[in-house]
Amino acid sequence: MREKRRLGRSIGLVPTMGALHDGHLSLLKASVEENDISVVSIFVNPTQFNNQEDFEKYPLHIEEDLEKLSKNKCDVVFLPDQGEIYRDKTRLKFHFGSLEKVMEGKFRPGHFNGVAIIVSKLFNIIQPDTAYFGQKDLQQFTIIKLLNEQLDFGIKLRCMPIMREPNGLAMSSRNLRLSSAGIETASIIYKIINKSAELLLTGNSISNVKSFVENEFKNSEARLEYFEIVSLIDMKSIRKIKSGEECALCIAAYVEDVRLIDNTLLTL
Ligand code: AMP
Repeated sequence: MREKRRLGRSIGLVPTMGALHDGHLSLLKASVEENDISVVSIFVNPTQFNNQEDFEKYPLHIEEDLEKLSKNKCDVVFLPDQGEIYRDKTRLKFHFGSLEKVMEGKFRPGHFNGVAIIVSKLFNIIQPDTAYFGQKDLQQFTIIKLLNEQLDFGIKLRCMPIMREPNGLAMSSRNLRLSSAGIETASIIYKIINKSAELLLTGNSISNVKSFVENEFKNSEARLEYFEIVSLIDMKSIRKIKSGEECALCIAAYVEDVRLIDNTLLTL
């Protein structure tokens, strides 16, 4: 990579955990359009899993992934093994303050520490000009933005829109673990987010919208873990509607024991 850089080529990086879908490929497409060389990393990062079973069941489809990447103009695939990335038990600890006290940080203790470790390693190894992430992991993007600033990586970060299945379900590698009935059930997540956004925009209070969401989940096969309306700036829960404030409506829910997340952005 240093060699390519010396030759003045721009490098785009798309970090992934594999089992690639059109969401990942949309990030690659943006990288291909904006850079001379596009690198996709595939690494199921153990340190970001707070649940061992989730890690063990994480889908692996390396052959299919490599085929998709070669068809989509990926120049370099970085496919390290565990020992290459973690030579020793890592002792690094990152703290992101209030940013990690809510939502994914609250329900997945240690998750963002693992994300910060792997992203820092990838940034150092690949040294990209630009790195591409998905809005689906919105809180993760906010944390990586802070990491990039605080450690002076100087990398341009791009947050790309959420790609969805025809029924609205956000694409995710974990969807591979759902039955077709589960995929149908999971489609309510996006429907509820959209309806909540509409309720907020038509003057309903935050507590009314939260009750609406809880009731909708009670009447479904999906189990709500959290629903939060947060400020886009600091991911703090919004308690009172301030006109013009940019926020995100974020959900985590379980369907058939698979944990799914989704969000939408809204200006109040
Ligand atoms: P993952 O392999 O799940 O760690 O995701 C790798 C990158 O792809 C992350 O930046 C995700 O936010 C992004 N991503 C995952 N799902 C989607 C999606 N449905 N649309 C767009 N980007 C996504």
